[in-house]
Amino acid sequence: MCKTVNTRSTPNLRKRGGSPDSATSASADPKQKLTGAGVMPSFDHTDVSQRKFDDNPFMISDLLVFLFVGIPVMAHMGARLFASEEIGPVDMAVALIVSYVFVEPASGVLHVVLDNEKFNSWPLLGEVAISFQRHHDKPIEISWRPTLNFFLEPMVPWAIIGAQSLFIKNDFTVAVLFNLFFTTQLMMFAHRWSHMANSRKPPGVKTLQNLGIIMSDAHHHDHHRTYDCNFAICAGWSNPVMNWLTKNGPWDEDNQWWFTVLAGFYFLPLMLGAYRGELQMPTNPF
Ligand SMILES: [Zn+2]
Ligand SMILES: [Zn+2]
Repeated sequence: MCKTVNTRSTPNLRKRGGSPDSATSASADPKQKLTGAGVMPSFDHTDVSQRKFDDNPFMISDLLVFLFVGIPVMAHMGARLFASEEIGPVDMAVALIVSYVFVEPASGVLHVVLDNEKFNSWPLLGEVAISFQRHHDKPIEISWRPTLNFFLEPMVPWAIIGAQSLFIKNDFTVAVLFNLFFTTQLMMFAHRWSHMANSRKPPGVKTLQNLGIIMSDAHHHDHHRTYDCNFAICAGWSNPVMNWLTKNGPWDEDNQWWFTVLAGFYFLPLMLGAYRGELQMPTNPF
């Protein structure tokens, strides 16, 4: 259970087209203790009816973005990094860690924004938010979506960040953005696996969860009890801070100002580049 001290009134138990019981079998009382340590809300992995999944409504647009933005941008970055005299294997490993450290809190802020129904009427963002919020009603569905379908889902958000590499002079920043493709996928799949029965998890996933490299099922299922905590969905280590901020900071999870924080995460590469005077027009690395 989330243990963050809440100095606001009561936990925000939001309902997305149904009772919380439709998301978990935990009681509607968010404060009710579950029996025994580490007991999950019993998402029914065997209920065949829950295997029906909603197709990704953005499948075609995500595929087009992957083919015509994702692959070219990754190829551009890869060619640049391969030719770079500043970036070696150690730099790439450090860049991988930096991208992992970036994606964890970014996932929390993205989740806070997309869970917020106040954004549902916004152009473009609204459709994504509504689609995202459906996960609260059918949490198991995420574990049954076709893998390719799921893989394509973060293409647009990643492309917005990845394409900024074209304008960045600093090779290490480009290395971070290159690795961000993979850590973004890790974040997405960490969420999927947290809803997947242990018997269906790919080999090694349980080890990654046990090591804390990705979040445990229990950690994420706490979010599905009350929808007001544990928003980060990669490793979860940023959630104590995020939980404290949404409970005690200037903005709770329903505040639309979180969008500005999300924009800050999204355009951090360009902002850093501008601050350091390291922006450039795209070059041809081939
Ligand atoms: Zn949520
Ligand atoms: Zn979930």
